[in-house]
Amino acid sequence: MNDDDLKKAVDYYRLLVEKEIAMENVVDGNFIGPRELIKKDQIDLKDMINPVRPFLGEESSEDLDKCYVTAFRVGNLKKPAFMIKSEQGTDIIAGIDLGANLVKDGLINSIDDIIHFLAKYKIGILDIFKEEEIEGGKKLDLRFYECIECAGLPNIGKPVCFFETGMIIGMLNQINKKEVNVEEIRCWTSGYSFCQFDVEIK
Ligand SMILES: [Zn+2]
Repeated sequence: MNDDDLKKAVDYYRLLVEKEIAMENVVDGNFIGPRELIKKDQIDLKDMINPVRPFLGEESSEDLDKCYVTAFRVGNLKKPAFMIKSEQGTDIIAGIDLGANLVKDGLINSIDDIIHFLAKYKIGILDIFKEEEIEGGKKLDLRFYECIECAGLPNIGKPVCFFETGMIIGMLNQINKKEVNVEEIRCWTSGYSFCQFDVEIK
């Protein structure tokens, strides 16, 4: 994806994000988007095989995009029921490790590199929606579109992108050499068509 294509995707999703946030509910302190809520603890295989990625899937054929997204999800989301609770922690740690190594190995040196790396390897389209200085650090509002983990998954009432949360922590920590906290507050699996990560760099 070149910069023009990235901008086109970001413009498209920013409009959609605005509409969906206007329609959201807050349930027990968590944001729930407009898509119908389906009561289940785990994502099923049939949920995973139909990613919705009109921009990232455009360059390859739609079928090819489905194939590698499904392969990624089978490894990342399809874990035995007894492991589900520990999954969140191990996925975050795996993501932190990968993110830090991408910087240590020189594949990523800046936020701009992160955007291009994630688009090139079709992990997702990163949008730095807002950036503000706060006392003792900086706050970022990151939006992530067509996420390889969750784009097209049903609304199960909670976010699932723990691996991506970890990657963001690892990359930003290694670039800034500062403590980084990241929380995914909106996700396809909580009823939206995007992911949103609240980031604090101390
Ligand atoms: Zn997500």
